[in-house]
Amino acid sequence: LSIELFLERLRQRGERVTMQRRQVIDVMLEHGEHLAVQDIQSCLQERGVDLTLPTVYRILQWLKGVGAVCQTDLGQDRIVYQLVGERPHHHLVCLTCGTVMEIEDQMFAEVRERLRREYGFEPRIDHMAVFGVCEGCRKAEREG
Ligand SMILES: [Zn+2]
Ligand SMILES: [Zn+2]
Repeated sequence: LSIELFLERLRQRGERVTMQRRQVIDVMLEHGEHLAVQDIQSCLQERGVDLTLPTVYRILQWLKGVGAVCQTDLGQDRIVYQLVGERPHHHLVCLTCGTVMEIEDQMFAEVRERLRREYGFEPRIDHMAVFGVCEGCRKAEREG
């Protein structure tokens, strides 16, 4: 996905793309996945763009509001952000050992379909974290 295509989609929806907003999107396109607000700020700094954390945060909230960015708690010290639709995937997060595993988007196909059909609800399951206990930890628990 190119920056121009991405911006075009936002403009088509009547969103105003300021220079600062453009810079944040550009950094996210370049650096990919699981970026914390602080990561985005330092990437911007490397390019000579100085934005405060609250400014970066506000831009991310706007992007989230228009459905362009998703915000996920992976059970770590930072909330992570990423662009929607780049490479759809989700995560299993172990509450015991903290391991973060990746699972395919297809896992949620039936959930989406049932939510639409049975609740008339259009879900935005963009980058989910499912918390639980991993196989290794469950085995360790069983074996005491
Ligand atoms: Zn992820
Ligand atoms: Zn575990």
